[in-house]
Amino acid sequence: MRFWEATAGRAFVGRLDTGSDLVQEIERFCAEHGIVAAQVTVIGAVRHARFAYYEQDDHRYRELDSATHHEIVGFTGNISLRDDRPFLHAHATFADADGATVGGHLLPGCEIFAGEVMIREIGGASLVRRPDEATGLALW
Ligand code: ZN
Repeated sequence: MRFWEATAGRAFVGRLDTGSDLVQEIERFCAEHGIVAAQVTVIGAVRHARFAYYEQDDHRYRELDSATHHEIVGFTGNISLRDDRPFLHAHATFADADGATVGGHLLPGCEIFAGEVMIREIGGASLVRRPDEATGLALW
């Protein structure tokens, strides 16, 4: 286990524009505001969902795509630095008109219908992603 003590930083609340990209908009906002470590939550709905499942044996993502409208019923994510830029790592659960859910590791390509975002900046900890041999992932 690895832990770092961190402090609470700035807090931001906002609304994503209809038609915008869920991942790209949050990363762009963080880059513009110098946010390099943060906790991110979102509630809202998407017109299109893109996410992935990580194949642990193969060390590769299996990309999934759902072109129907969904509620965002769960979203937890963080901002860290990857290749010197703010990177959003988020997992989300999406519910369709029948309440059936899909979800996984969020990918660019989720088109926002409506999205309320809260970003809580974290200070005092340097979260930089580097390749991890055991998992094949880019981890802190
Ligand atoms: Zn993930």
